Amino acid sequence: MSARVGRLRQLLGTLGADAFLVASAHNLRYLTGFSGSNGLALIDESRIVLVTDARYRIQAGLETEAAGSRVELHITNDPGAVLSTAGRGLARIAFEAEHVTVARREVFAEGIAGELVPTVDVVERLRQDKDPHEIELLSTAAGIADDAFTAIWDLLGEKLPNGLTERRVAAELDHMMRLGGADAPSFDTIVASGPNGAKPHARPGDRVIQKGDLVVLDFGARVDGYGSDMTRTVSAGACPSDRQLELYDAVLTAQRAGVATVADGVPELAVDRACRNLLTDRGLGEAFSHGTGHGIGLQIHESPILSTRSVGILRSGLVITVEPGIYLPDIGGIRVEDSVVVSSSGCTPITHSPKGLVPAFS
Ligand code: ZN
Ligand code: ZN
Repeated sequence: MSARVGRLRQLLGTLGADAFLVASAHNLRYLTGFSGSNGLALIDESRIVLVTDARYRIQAGLETEAAGSRVELHITNDPGAVLSTAGRGLARIAFEAEHVTVARREVFAEGIAGELVPTVDVVERLRQDKDPHEIELLSTAAGIADDAFTAIWDLLGEKLPNGLTERRVAAELDHMMRLGGADAPSFDTIVASGPNGAKPHARPGDRVIQKGDLVVLDFGARVDGYGSDMTRTVSAGACPSDRQLELYDAVLTAQRAGVATVADGVPELAVDRACRNLLTDRGLGEAFSHGTGHGIGLQIHESPILSTRSVGILRSGLVITVEPGIYLPDIGGIRVEDSVVVSSSGCTPITHSPKGLVPAFS
């Protein structure tokens, strides 16, 4: 944690600030180890002043100690008062404009004598670069989701029972992940069958899955705050049609091309292009209606975002998804998503579930 705070302190000069006020709960956790829902931290060259309320008295002490972060902990319902004392002598204090409401900013302005400087994406950008411990947590989470996929294919494949609903499949996936060691699913599990698959973020409902349906399964596990993300598309009852196989092949080819493009120094845009060009060549460009990927970590969608508008360059240590998909009202949806760790020679996937409309488990 001290290395993370050190990296933030190095940015203070560039930001033209004497201190940084952290308001985002995820950023607070990243920098101090404290995972409560309510808190603020004022970080200057020498201090980390952490403010939270009485509900978190014990938790904040334990978590910051476990993280090895030396904080001045203040338990109060009046953070403005603590900040006015802690902020004395600070001329310019950077704050997270995307995480502070207008009303809250006014409270800060009343308490803090120095000038408040709005910033965006400062800690978020630090969070892009994962350290080995973060990569280990993400890999553990991805492994738990891989195991859940193995179990669910047993249910959805050849043995497909009568009356199996999307809701039931989602519940089974969540259950398997919890039993496998997840603290929770990393986001609301998506199980989209048949026509529902044409909605990229469909919610699992009471639709009964039919033999021959395409089923999009997008899910992940959360471990110690870090969430995995993977999508597989399968044929319910393991009986895909030729048309389904052909479309699946287009998506899988695009996804593999995207993964093969990922490496340190490669523009994010190149990964999006690699996927998009292949689908466009097969007349499916219009059907690919979203971005190609995103960072994962403490949040399920983190920067960088890989899309047609990306301008960044990939670096070793980033953990990103590559997830092209197509959505056709008469067919449903097909999406394949892996999470990979960027390296100098390419990338290493952390999601390992077999692919294919009828995945072959070894
Ligand atoms: Zn996903
Ligand atoms: Zn994703």
